[in-house]
Amino acid sequence: MKNRVEERLPVGNPNNERRGESVTTISPESATDPGPKYSVASELAPSSELPPSTDRGDVPNFWFPYSRSHKRMQEGGWARQITVNDFPISTTIAGVNMRLIAGAIRELHWHQASEWAIMLYGNARITVIDPQGRTFVDDLTEGDLWYFPSGYPHSIQGLGPDGCEFLLIFDDGKFSENETFLISDWMAHTPVEVLSKNFGLPISAFENIPQKELYIFPGKITKSLEEDLKAATGPAGQVPESFSYSLYKQQPNVSTQGGEARVVDSNNFPVSKAIAAALVTVHPGGLREMHWHPNADEWLYVISGKARITLFAAVGKARTMDFNAGDIAYIPQSMGHYIENTGDTDLRFLETFRSSYYASISLSDWMSHTPPELVEAHTHLSSKSLAAIPKKQVVIMPE
Ligand code: MN
Ligand code: MN
Repeated sequence: MKNRVEERLPVGNPNNERRGESVTTISPESATDPGPKYSVASELAPSSELPPSTDRGDVPNFWFPYSRSHKRMQEGGWARQITVNDFPISTTIAGVNMRLIAGAIRELHWHQASEWAIMLYGNARITVIDPQGRTFVDDLTEGDLWYFPSGYPHSIQGLGPDGCEFLLIFDDGKFSENETFLISDWMAHTPVEVLSKNFGLPISAFENIPQKELYIFPGKITKSLEEDLKAATGPAGQVPESFSYSLYKQQPNVSTQGGEARVVDSNNFPVSKAIAAALVTVHPGGLREMHWHPNADEWLYVISGKARITLFAAVGKARTMDFNAGDIAYIPQSMGHYIENTGDTDLRFLETFRSSYYASISLSDWMSHTPPELVEAHTHLSSKSLAAIPKKQVVIMPE
């Protein structure tokens, strides 16, 4: 009976020899690992425990799990973020995972980065105004998105029955959720006589303002959406374009035997000028095909299931890593990759990009729309094999 490592020992790969590597096959003795080790970590990351023989060279870490990021606990919920500080490769995007119990409020605030969000669980009410003073208030549920442009002030509140959990994407890897502009913080750090002049109120009106930031705090929802919207809307009216979007209700752009994908960018969600995204499902055995993105780095969040990704970083460098629910993958612009479902349930993930539009180039699509003799000369695939590969960007294999 072979042990787990022996079962996965690479079979001879003649390409390794051509690349001048010393190992084509390795003996079971060479793969032994007497320890110490934490077996659960090996189970979650078999590709790091024993990399495929095609991996080679120094490719930076492109995996980070939310389960290892600091959780800021507050009465009313919590937040945890993955920024370039924890995850050096993620220069263009920072992500925040947040929970608000029913009624709890993420304080009225704004920030320099643009904010894109997807509801992962439950229900929430959001508010925002634009520079013309036009109002937007909406109730969102699982699979809904929102987008707040850079500098637009906003709030989020958990609704019944059990509040919400969501994922926030910011178009700057250095963004910190702990350094946003908070309404309470500003008022607490302004001379009270200035507050009095600014609002045309007596100084005594400010006796009870909070002396430190609230950030996340318990609250109540007592009004309906219609009542809140009516009370908040002034002479400027409401915003002309929606700041929310129902992604789960969108028909898939791609549907194959292997899975489906929904793309959302400024073409169908016009306010979302800085972030493009795709929500992808890959069935067991399926593969998000070999491709790259010509316009932006990819920040990928695994919603459910198990995946492996090999990042091809040119000049013979490649690294394979495993991903589980709640993990982030970060793939620099134009680096080749695939995403394989390695589990026995559906793999669901979100691809996000700092771009107004979604774009990818598929290896099959490229090869099948280049003169065949030219491709044959490079790949040494027979003309029969080349004729049989997919003739378009399939996105998820099998077709
Ligand atoms: Mn925000
Ligand atoms: Mn991709």
